[in-house]
Amino acid sequence: MLCFLLLFVKKNKKGDATLKCPFCQNANNKVLDSRLTPDSDSIRRRRECEGCQRRFTTYERAELFDISVVKRNSMREAFSREKVLKGILRACEKRPVKREQIDQIVDLVEANIRQKNKDEISSRKIGELVMQQLAQIDDVAYVRFASVYKKFRDANQFVDAIKTLKKQEKELIIK
Ligand SMILES: [Zn+2]
Repeated sequence: MLCFLLLFVKKNKKGDATLKCPFCQNANNKVLDSRLTPDSDSIRRRRECEGCQRRFTTYERAELFDISVVKRNSMREAFSREKVLKGILRACEKRPVKREQIDQIVDLVEANIRQKNKDEISSRKIGELVMQQLAQIDDVAYVRFASVYKKFRDANQFVDAIKTLKKQEKELIIK
């Protein structure tokens, strides 16, 4: 008999998750199948308990619950993948950027935060990471993102952003 059970497994910072069979509490189980959920924010695994042979499904997601983002005004808020994603989606509206590429940028930002193993990251740093990536993908999306993120006060700042973009392009070509 197949039993569908949802278990949300919170991974710790190192990424390992311990879970027990929901029926017999046995800690040993084998993974039958792993796949990303349609919105790619968690991994669905079908598992079979090695004790009682019953099957269950887990949804694993490495969350950054404990990371705070320090905003410009020094206020802190919990890191939100969704928020980063929305900002990039807005910048990429009607641009030839694939959703897959956008997800990759968000993944990269998350990975970067995790690597640092710190409790907080500045919103400035997140913005810079996103801009670095967008600059390599789409000029228009980059400038749009930069203009929102840097809150351009005048035309000079806008020109600076374009110059930075051009400089980065040159560096890429040289590499
Ligand atoms: Zn079991």
